[in-house]
Amino acid sequence: MNGLMMDYQLTIDRILEHANRMFPTKTVKTMLPDGSMHVYTYADAYKRIKRLSKALVGLGVEIGDRVGTFAWNNYQHLELYYAIPGAGAVCHTLNIRLSADQLAYIINHAEDKVVFIDGTLLKLYEQAAPLVQSVQHYVLFNAPRDVATTLQNVVFYEDLIDGSDEDFAWLSTDEKMAMAMCYTSGTTGDPKGALYAHRSMFLHTLGSNQAGALAISEKDVVLPVVPQFHAMAWGTPYSCMAGGARMVMPGPHLQAQPLARMIEEERVTVAAGVPTIWTGLYHELKNNPRDISSIRAMVVGGSAMPRALTKAYESELGVNVVHAWGMTEMSPLGTVCNLQAHHEALPLEEQWDVKATQGYPILGVEMRIVGEEGEELPWDGQQMGELQVRGPWIISQYFKRPIDESYMTTDGWFRTGDVSKVSPDGYMQITDRTKDLVKSGGEWISSVDLENAIMAHPKVMEAAVIAIPDARWAERPLAAVKPAPGVEELTEAEIIEFIRDDFAKFWLPDKVIVVADIPKTSTGKFDKKVLRAQYAAGELQ
Ligand code: ADP
Repeated sequence: MNGLMMDYQLTIDRILEHANRMFPTKTVKTMLPDGSMHVYTYADAYKRIKRLSKALVGLGVEIGDRVGTFAWNNYQHLELYYAIPGAGAVCHTLNIRLSADQLAYIINHAEDKVVFIDGTLLKLYEQAAPLVQSVQHYVLFNAPRDVATTLQNVVFYEDLIDGSDEDFAWLSTDEKMAMAMCYTSGTTGDPKGALYAHRSMFLHTLGSNQAGALAISEKDVVLPVVPQFHAMAWGTPYSCMAGGARMVMPGPHLQAQPLARMIEEERVTVAAGVPTIWTGLYHELKNNPRDISSIRAMVVGGSAMPRALTKAYESELGVNVVHAWGMTEMSPLGTVCNLQAHHEALPLEEQWDVKATQGYPILGVEMRIVGEEGEELPWDGQQMGELQVRGPWIISQYFKRPIDESYMTTDGWFRTGDVSKVSPDGYMQITDRTKDLVKSGGEWISSVDLENAIMAHPKVMEAAVIAIPDARWAERPLAAVKPAPGVEELTEAEIIEFIRDDFAKFWLPDKVIVVADIPKTSTGKFDKKVLRAQYAAGELQ
């Protein structure tokens, strides 16, 4: 129809241009490998990104080519998040915690042409390199000139920037172009690639920054602990520059001590990370108190935030915890748990019950829960079903894989593989992943509910519940429990006694084992596959 609005392309370079025009003096601080701080401004970043984009074209990178990154959260990785898409190519973030085999599989599957490597990770990368076929150039940063390497065709990052200039027009001219990709960790089957478009990431940025979501603004100081190699650091490299926030990048320093220091010294207002990070930080702060009251939102996702930990942060440290849920396939943001006006009068304990949920879908994400017969279930806070989603920043298909019903319904919804219930006011709570549910005597038992209850025990640091085969009931729950620092004795009886009143008798784990560590996946989740392999096959003493 005549007279419609402009056909304006929603491309990522628009975010960068906006940041450079509106917030040129805002800073990005990076903790370098040696612990010192690198500081520069958005205006500095802008110039270097332009140069880098142009240099990529010079290296032979063409529109649509995949360019890998193997790096911590730092200013160079931030630059790559813009420079690669700005050159019309696809920024493929590589998870540094994968095995050499998995890493090589992903690079070959994506056909990465160039890979940028953080010097501190060079040795790790070299283990996969002999298996890699597609890469024509490697680019190194945070590495000395005389670094010894087995890699061929190596250039230095700073040489690329020095040898280039800013006279460059962005090649990201169409919002439908691909701009980034990330593979899921592949806990089942081969890793699968999610390919993001300029348009989808632009809209995700707006979605993430809307009021009621993360709403990152020029007043914020943001510490993305969630790695840039995992689920796009939850979009923070884009939402921070879009909002004009100051950024603090931790580099390789993800231990509780440096994180506590950065939060206190930089007066961080928004920090984002998985529960394991915040568990570690909490115990660190108990021993070495620091003032982290500047935080307005401690954003946590990736796995369920234990209710007890949320309560501890809020009641003991005065920190507002914001639970969020998402997936690599969803760019990743799906739901955010901010309290609404009608929660304010609730007693604190009930507010923490709400905060234990994963929150409500932000505008741009639609969700539904579906029962075993394929019927849509009501949002009554009781019924559990498979969670399905749709929206402009959710995959329609995995990269180079056919669409099939294992992940897309015939009516166009993405099947998350999560099982959840939704309250009448739209707060979604994950009770399990489909493959992690325990089915005992025909009844479902939620491993997440049991884990939450056990982790509320003061002597417990982490707990993971899995199903073990049982002749009579088909499956029974087993809990693996890691004691809190300094706890010398922890018994099965103590745990069972602690949770006995909260559950029906058949929910109580048949076995509680105390372990030194709970195995984790490359993205920091409890690795239940490994636990099952250890204990399901009768390793129990
Ligand atoms: P990967 O499969 O590579 O670990 P993702 O981080 O994309 O990658 O995993 C998404 C899954 O993580 C979700 O489907 C869900 O099971 C789990 N998850 C994410 N956020 C939460 C959360 N806040 N609470 C519980 N589970 C979560």
